[in-house]
Amino acid sequence: MDAAAKQKEIILKGISASPGICIGKAYQVDHEGVDIVKRYQIIDKKALENETTRFKKAVKQAKDELHDIIKGTSEDLLQHADILETQVVLLEDKMLYGRTIETIEKEKINAEWALKKVVSKVSSMFQDITDTYLKDRATDIVHVSDRIMRHLMGAEPVNIAEIDKRVILIARDLSPAQTSQINLERIMGFVTVLGGVTSHTSIIARTLGIPAVQGVDDATRLIQNDDIIIVDGSGGHVFIDPSESTLMDYMERQIRFESYRADIARDSQRAARTTDGHRVKVMGNIEQPEQVVAVMDNGGEGVGLFRTEFQYLASAEFPGEDELFENYKDVLDVMQDQPVTIRTLDINGDKAFVRNSGMTEANPALGLRAIRYCLKRPDIFKTQLRAILRAAVFGEVRLLLPMLATYDELMFAKNMIEDAIQSLEDDDKEYNRNIQLGVMIEVPSLAMMADVIAREVDFFSIGTNDLIQYSMAVDRGNREVAYLYNPLHPAILRILKIVSDAAKKEGIELFMCGEMAGDPFSLPVLLGLGLDELSLNPQSIPMLKNLIRSISFADAEKFLQKILEQTTCKAVNELIQKEYGEIISATIYPK
Ligand code: PEP
Ligand code: MG
Repeated sequence: MDAAAKQKEIILKGISASPGICIGKAYQVDHEGVDIVKRYQIIDKKALENETTRFKKAVKQAKDELHDIIKGTSEDLLQHADILETQVVLLEDKMLYGRTIETIEKEKINAEWALKKVVSKVSSMFQDITDTYLKDRATDIVHVSDRIMRHLMGAEPVNIAEIDKRVILIARDLSPAQTSQINLERIMGFVTVLGGVTSHTSIIARTLGIPAVQGVDDATRLIQNDDIIIVDGSGGHVFIDPSESTLMDYMERQIRFESYRADIARDSQRAARTTDGHRVKVMGNIEQPEQVVAVMDNGGEGVGLFRTEFQYLASAEFPGEDELFENYKDVLDVMQDQPVTIRTLDINGDKAFVRNSGMTEANPALGLRAIRYCLKRPDIFKTQLRAILRAAVFGEVRLLLPMLATYDELMFAKNMIEDAIQSLEDDDKEYNRNIQLGVMIEVPSLAMMADVIAREVDFFSIGTNDLIQYSMAVDRGNREVAYLYNPLHPAILRILKIVSDAAKKEGIELFMCGEMAGDPFSLPVLLGLGLDELSLNPQSIPMLKNLIRSISFADAEKFLQKILEQTTCKAVNELIQKEYGEIISATIYPK
């Protein structure tokens, strides 16, 4: 960069991956040399064998390195260690390991070139896939192969744990393994070319609470070691060599952000009431029992959704009743007398499990999923129901049934709950049958029957992730049709109104646990609809509680009437922006 250009600050735009602001010196993480891979032919049989051995040795070194990282992972980040475990498994995956060896042998070429060839083939296979889970696996494969490549080429990795100055990391990509090595005393934040909001790396950054911007195209080209940079993780901007006035401005913003974060964290332990005193409970969604700690730390008033299927997806066999019972009891012990909403197995669909007896479905989202699967496999369902009823002795359990489409399904499920109770009686087991029963509203047919269903249950929990998918006929993971996936579409709002009216008429409680519940922009509408509880990702609880405290319930109810008159998403968005835009942006990102 020439001197003239250096005098002027450069502003780069990326994706806000983790909020907050940091100012400091840049540090390039990328390892030299790994990108330039030479190809050479190996004719001699013995030499070719050596090449395979060299590859196997590099894999072993990569594996040992990953194990060391897992062992050294701090308590805070242990919940993310499974990402690294996945990478250990991938190291010996047929697709990578087997094919590389095959390529060395068949094409008689060096290990580096064979590995590069296999990885680029795998990456191109994954290129057009929109499923985020599979995309993440493809990224894992690239990270794993980088690690093997470094060992093959003898290149020294930059060991993030050993960086001994206070810096901001700049990288093309940071793997979850690298991110989990971050020492908070030294690393202030990071900027990467790749990645986005749902990447594992950004999830870890948010857990660590450090600012991060990802998806910054020119980051590694334009930012040099020791450049002074500002990372605005909230706004998704990076400033290189900022001017005096930008620097002053961001130093002030940084102080305001830190004190804002401290304030809302402190306030989050208090109940959230609107400006006119209406209480809305804010709960946490969890997938694993350990996450319950984050719910408590962030001021969650209970668990609004415990996605129990992850325990089934993780183990080789279906978990037994005692194992399930212990798991649920662990969560209840931490939450003490706060409610814990245990959702029964929501397996298949986008959460297909591997040991699925070879069953493939043309349309898994419309197939044998959730309650449909459980009603077909009463043995599996009953095991879980018994575990839940037994755990209910130790706290306030709510039982939540997913993806019901009909009244009949509810009746079948209720019969099975009675069966489970009877069998516990017969076995003389301790259990508690006085638990609240609710259904997820996520299939439009059930939403249309909400008036009848409301007479049979204690609460509704609206699962907007699927409700939008099924109402708009739009795959929730398909980027091509994502323009149709909008929680504030007038069609969705009308459905929500029907459900809310039915719940209010029958006097049952109305909850929401889909992603819409944590969307600040949707909050005025949700308040207007009279949601009693919102359940969301635990880290967002302080922000949402804070926003609830800035809005009047009476105003939100009147506002909803205006919203329901709109016919397009654009009109709904403009109205929210006009009436609440300032309150929302001031509450989430203090100026
Ligand atoms: C939903 O569909 O909104 C929901 C909360 O369930 P899941 O995301 O687990 O399908
Ligand atoms: Mg769902």
